[in-house]
Amino acid sequence: MSRYWSAVVHGLTPYVPGEQPKLANLVKLNTNENPYGPSPKVIEAVRAEAADTLRLYPDPNSDRLRAGIAAYHGVTPEQVFVGNGSDEVLAHAFMALLKHERAILFPDITYSFYPVYCGLYEIGHRAVPLTESFEIRVDDYLTPNGGIIFPNPNAPTGRLLALGEIERLLAGNPDSVVVIDEAYIDFGGDSAVGLVARYPQLLVTRTLSKSHALAGLRVGYAIGQPHLVEALNRVKDSFNSYPLDRFAQAGALASIEDRAYFESICAKVVRTRTRLVEEMEALGFEVLPSGANFIFARHPAQDGAALAAALRDRSIIVRHFRNPARIAPFLRVTVGTDAQCDALVAALKALC
Ligand code: PMP
Repeated sequence: MSRYWSAVVHGLTPYVPGEQPKLANLVKLNTNENPYGPSPKVIEAVRAEAADTLRLYPDPNSDRLRAGIAAYHGVTPEQVFVGNGSDEVLAHAFMALLKHERAILFPDITYSFYPVYCGLYEIGHRAVPLTESFEIRVDDYLTPNGGIIFPNPNAPTGRLLALGEIERLLAGNPDSVVVIDEAYIDFGGDSAVGLVARYPQLLVTRTLSKSHALAGLRVGYAIGQPHLVEALNRVKDSFNSYPLDRFAQAGALASIEDRAYFESICAKVVRTRTRLVEEMEALGFEVLPSGANFIFARHPAQDGAALAAALRDRSIIVRHFRNPARIAPFLRVTVGTDAQCDALVAALKALC
């Protein structure tokens, strides 16, 4: 067989993102987008970019954006790395940092991108089981080991780890890189960014896709001490990775600077989440406590796959995972607008 087939032969498992159906009348609650639009200031900034400067190359270092992110978090621009979505930032973290650990640990139920990257870069890894109640137990990560990565809140469970537990994890792993993926932290969690000054092994990654309602713009970033950021830049420059384009740099900066706006849409999502949890519990669902803009829920008398299919027949799209078997009974439901959640609850009433 041709050697060009080697990647297939070696069994790489591609990452499968949630589907992006084209039909306009769907209630789309499957990929954790924000149901509200981004700040009007983002649209203004992107328009200005389109009118004035599109013929010019973008700043390869995103200096203004990094300065804006640094000001927002109270760190220096040398502590900020930006990428085309946090998936790209995470890819750089795997290549620049985690790849050099003896092995890496992450929970057995977590963001499915991590094992994909381990496969691609041939990084040894161990999946650490969650507890019975789907929690990350820090004690399981305290033996001498290698690098650590997990989202906080975790995905797809939505369970949030308290900041004190993150600090205990860092204190117990002084020699290992620890990456905390805070894709969903703005929906009610305490960020670990404040720990970066004290823990040189900590890298925190964030995205504008969820709390800033900018999934289509593709902007994510990482915060760590300068030596970690320097390692990420080294890999980026070696790959000649694409810089953020002009729309992304201008739009992301406008969004970061309009703090009142994105905090207000996050607060709306959190209010709707509370109501959705109550209504689903009233229908008999067990709903895991969520710190994210989605909930993870199962019904004792319903099959997860069948329920997702029945909702789909009613034009409501939620996410269902077949693997691992332990999560197969669950649905992961993005918190939408109140009206979208009403439509979901009405459909579930008819089905359960
Ligand atoms: N981390 C987690 C835990 C996620 O769920 C996602 C979204 N799929 C990402 C990172 C990546 O988000 P993005 O590339 O849009 O920044």
